[in-house]
Amino acid sequence: MAAPSAIPRRGLFIGGGWREPSLGRRLPVVNPATEATIGDIPAATAEDVELAVSAARDAFGRDGGRHWSRAPGAVRAKYLKAIAAKIKDKKSYLALLETLDSGKPLDEAAGDMEDVAACFEYYADWAEALDGKQRAPISLPMENFESYVLKEPIGVVGLITPWNYPLLMATWKVAPALAAGCTAVLKPSELASLTCLELGGICAEIGLPPGVLNIITGLGTEAGAPLTSHPHVDKIAFTGSTETGKRIMITASQMVKPVSLELGGKSPLIVFDDVDIDKAVEWAMFGCFANAGQVCSATSRLLLHEKIAKRFLDRLVAWAKSIKISDPLEEGCRLGSVVSEGQYQKIMKFISTARCEGATILSGGARPQHLKRGFFIEPTIITNVSTSMQIWREEVFGPVICVKEFRTEREAVELANDTHYGLAGAVISNDLERCERISKAIQSGIVWINCSQPCFVQAPWGGNKRSGFGRELGQWGLDNYLSVKQVTKYC
Ligand code: NAD
Repeated sequence: MAAPSAIPRRGLFIGGGWREPSLGRRLPVVNPATEATIGDIPAATAEDVELAVSAARDAFGRDGGRHWSRAPGAVRAKYLKAIAAKIKDKKSYLALLETLDSGKPLDEAAGDMEDVAACFEYYADWAEALDGKQRAPISLPMENFESYVLKEPIGVVGLITPWNYPLLMATWKVAPALAAGCTAVLKPSELASLTCLELGGICAEIGLPPGVLNIITGLGTEAGAPLTSHPHVDKIAFTGSTETGKRIMITASQMVKPVSLELGGKSPLIVFDDVDIDKAVEWAMFGCFANAGQVCSATSRLLLHEKIAKRFLDRLVAWAKSIKISDPLEEGCRLGSVVSEGQYQKIMKFISTARCEGATILSGGARPQHLKRGFFIEPTIITNVSTSMQIWREEVFGPVICVKEFRTEREAVELANDTHYGLAGAVISNDLERCERISKAIQSGIVWINCSQPCFVQAPWGGNKRSGFGRELGQWGLDNYLSVKQVTKYC
């Protein structure tokens, strides 16, 4: 598909319509693969947040009426299904916008759009199922009391999301929040907001009641912060860096406002010596270089049994050197650009610090020679890493993997857990008992056995330690937006 000559110029999506930002300011949209400015997005500030929250509050219907929170689940489901159908219709166009905005290969962006539609459909089913499940009896030890639990939508929720899977990360929040009966203000990342703004267009096209979903773009400090501190926002669901997560938690704590936090990671992949090396290399490659490594659960620490380390690394390096790195719109591209110049500089600094600290850059570590423009970085494999080095300890969020060898299972688990993060971990071995043992020992919210990175909308997603708390997807994702009320009757 050819790139459009102009990116649609959108306003903020508030109360079912488009509005110019109160201060009239806009932020440039840069295609990271070409460095060209291709459009702009509105820069919302506190006044716009006020309007968006007020629209969401009206639509929620706290004070009566048959507003969104009181509509039957089947009605909410109908809208969610209609959104899913439109996403499918516009899949190619949305994928193209996502690629132009973020630098990810077009095929990967198209896959993201399929996941977006599937997620809306999945939570449409939950919305329908909720009709029968919102009231659940509790068995009590005394006959003259009857008790039951009501599950109710929390209220107006603020949804703050990152740039690595712009529309998909937003959908993981928007779909369950709306299914639960909440109304929402979505604040996507200023680095990649185009597809989230298109979601506003889709909501208007399908006739979603005004104010149910509001979308404000802009800087974190100018739009995200006032959303977090707004007294009429009943919950913040955040995905992003651990640093921003901490700030959000501090602000929300002033109002004892609930938050759920999906934060960074430094996820290990442990490979034992009893494996099919080619298959294991494939999982490692996918784990560390898909989406240019800009994945919260990316395999950023590779732990290899010493007996296979050399053979494994030879193959990994051969693959890294053969991969097609190109404009992400080109057919067959496997590695696009990273999202922005800032991200490019940050990743390059990590690589140069690793070199200064004594690590070996076994492969990559530079801009590919054949690409003169765009924020491209070769797939980078780093060895001779010690556990005190920055490259071992901190999240890079780029196509960079660091490698250590181990001798025993115990040593592998100790290395895997040697991190403040706890999002994901993976183990590859033919000994399934060993894999099960290790899955219990790894301190993370997700463990993959004999694979890496598969993600299913039915299964809980989220981390421990400094990777955050709360779970998205599955029933857990819905529970994020429901509050539990006990009702007890004396009879
Ligand atoms: P970020 O923390 O810089 O920004 C995330 C969002 O927060 C953006 O919308 C930003 O505008 C907003 N923001 C920034 N400052 C804010 C403030 N003071 N108040 C309110 N909002 C503010 O993160 P990023 O660079 O966009 O995303 C990359 C990070 O996201 C990585 O650390 C990655 O691991 C993490 N991530 C985690 C998951 C997960 O499921 N755990 C998924 C994807 C990404």
